[in-house]
Amino acid sequence: MDIKIENLKVLFDENRLQTRIIELANELNNLYKGEEVTVVCVLKGAVMFAVDLIKSLNMPVKIEFIRLSSYGSSVTTSGKVNAVDIRLPDLNGKNVLIIEDIVDTGLTAKFLLDFMNCNFNVKSLKFCSLLDKKVSRKVDIQPDYYGFEIDDKFVVGYGLDYDGYFRNLRYIGYKE
Ligand code: 5GP
Repeated sequence: MDIKIENLKVLFDENRLQTRIIELANELNNLYKGEEVTVVCVLKGAVMFAVDLIKSLNMPVKIEFIRLSSYGSSVTTSGKVNAVDIRLPDLNGKNVLIIEDIVDTGLTAKFLLDFMNCNFNVKSLKFCSLLDKKVSRKVDIQPDYYGFEIDDKFVVGYGLDYDGYFRNLRYIGYKE
C-alpha cells in the first residue's frame, strides 16, 4: 500500500480528538482522585496522545517511555512484538497507566500487561488507548479506557505512522 497525504480522508479532526482527550483525562482524574500516577507511554505512536492527555491530568504524574514495534513498513501487524527499549524504573507499589495509540490484535497490550505483572508488584495497572479496533482482536483483551472505537481500517496521523511518516498530522485519517 502507498499512502499519500492528498488521498487521506479525515476520520477524527483535531477538535474531536482534543475534546475526547479532555473527557478521558476527566475520567482518569476521577479514578485516581489525586493519587500519584506513573504514565508509561508506548513510543512512538502514543507520543502525541500521551503528551496531550497528561496536560489535563490533575494528580502528580511521572512519565516513562518505552519503545515497541510490530508493524515495520507494512499495514498489517507482524504478529510479533519487539521490545526495542523497555527499560523502566522500579514501579513496585505505583499506580501505572499504560498509554497506547491503538489496540488492534491486542498482542502488544497483552505483552505489556504480562510484562508489568511479571516484573513489578504495582499498586494498580490500567491501560488507556486512543483507538480501539475491536474487530481485529486476536487475544481476549480490552483497554480499560479508550478514546474511539474504529472499524478495520489502517489509520495514520496524530502519532500513528505509515513507514515512519504522518505522525505529525493534527488529525487521524485513512486512505480512501
Ligand atoms: P496490536 O499488537 O494490537 O496488533 O497492534 C498494536 C500496534 O500496531 C499499535 O501500537 C500500532 O503501532 C500498530 N497499529 C495497529 N493498527 C494500526 C493502524 O491502523 N495504523 C497504524 N499506523 N498503526 C497501527
